[in-house]
Amino acid sequence: MKDVIIVGAGFAGSTLANLFANINKKVLVIDKRNHIGGNMYEETRDNGVRVHKYGPHIFHTNDKEVFEYLQKFTSFYFYEHRVIGYIDGEYVPIPFNFKSLELLFPSDKVKLIKEKLLKTYGEQKKVSILDLLNDSDDVIREFGKYVYEKVFVHYTAKQWNVPISEVDSSVINRVPVILGYDDRYFQDTYQAMPKNGYNEIFENMLDNKNIEVKLDTNAKDLLRIDTDNKKIYYDNKEFKGIVIYSGPLDELLEYQYGPLPYRSLDLVFEDRDENYYQPSSVVNYTVSEKFTRITEFKYLSNQVVKDNTTILKEYPLTYDYKNKEHVPYYAIFNDTNLALYKKYYDSVKDIDNFYLCGRLAEYKYYNMDAVVRRALDLFKEIEGVK
Ligand code: FAD
Ligand code: UDP
Repeated sequence: MKDVIIVGAGFAGSTLANLFANINKKVLVIDKRNHIGGNMYEETRDNGVRVHKYGPHIFHTNDKEVFEYLQKFTSFYFYEHRVIGYIDGEYVPIPFNFKSLELLFPSDKVKLIKEKLLKTYGEQKKVSILDLLNDSDDVIREFGKYVYEKVFVHYTAKQWNVPISEVDSSVINRVPVILGYDDRYFQDTYQAMPKNGYNEIFENMLDNKNIEVKLDTNAKDLLRIDTDNKKIYYDNKEFKGIVIYSGPLDELLEYQYGPLPYRSLDLVFEDRDENYYQPSSVVNYTVSEKFTRITEFKYLSNQVVKDNTTILKEYPLTYDYKNKEHVPYYAIFNDTNLALYKKYYDSVKDIDNFYLCGRLAEYKYYNMDAVVRRALDLFKEIEGVK
């Protein structure tokens, strides 16, 4: 008899499974995929290069407790992520910084723009592109328009398939403009990659006598949520233990209010007979091409693989829940979609033993560290720990 059933073996599910198992609860983890690790899962290509099967995952956080918690399951190596944008034939740092400015603008303009930016925003190290666009100074506004056009407008249109004006500002503001020469993609205190890859973290999290993992198993086939009577059935019997769900909520509730919109990706891997393909781990194609970015995994895996490399091109596409090949990667934030999510949420929120955790289940744009934080907090909430 299990105490806890968890759907999904990504960071949400695996963290909670580990925490419950450690207090001697019997845990069942179900995942519909044939592997654990959720979207962080890595596999090795025939050429020996380890790749992230569901797109590039770089760990970064300001949350010391999360970073310390994860170090129980793997050793990390220091890795600061740098991204280059391909703009009008030049490779320039993204986020756009003073070096990018110098590479793309004549020197007299560079001097003037830098002075103005530092005078207006000098205390800040980074600034939102949306603030630059609305600045009262003509020079700053013109500069903002340029960066908006060359870095954000086309990439965003590719990624979200709508004009940038319809994309939530929190999404755009994930990538700032840097007032200085810091050329790191993230500015977090802790930036690191797992030495032996992500899989080891999940193997160690779930390696516990109290945890049973069932793969290739869709929760829909075993779990039934009776939203009217606020009961959960597992294998046709009422289950009174704790159920934590980290998959898409519309799927579990049989799309009764219609499907929740997501963006998906066609991930195209290419093995190449050369030592390196590009100058950096990630190159963003912010103006040209149908794909958004190219990732070269050797830079992320810290591997030495001679004369072979593997790259990944990400082609955004509209998620179709009926297409078995599609993965719901990104929730799309707008009032309509959030209202639809709320309908699903409201129909389960009063079920005492049912909890939602994770990027899909909560319809949020969580990074990995935010999901681990949410799982740590949810565990405390369920167990009543202060
Ligand atoms: P997931 O990892 O998606 O795990 C959910 C699991 O639930 C999956 O294994 C799925 O198979 C399973 N599941 C779903 N439905 C069912 C069902 N009905 N029955 C059984 N199992 C089910 N974050 C960063 O911090 N840094 C990055 O660089 C980064 N890069 C990213 C790049 C891409 C392309 C994407 C899409 C995301 C990226 N993220 C990144 C975010 C990161 O992927 C998420 O924060 C993380 O995956 C969330 O973990 P999770 O457990 O909520 O979900
Ligand atoms: N973005 C952009 N140009 C870039 C990088 C990002 O316009 O060169 C925008 C785009 O809308 C994207 C968002 O900023 O969806 C967030 O970017 P991030 O790199 O955080 O996306 P993720 O890695 O989560 O796909």
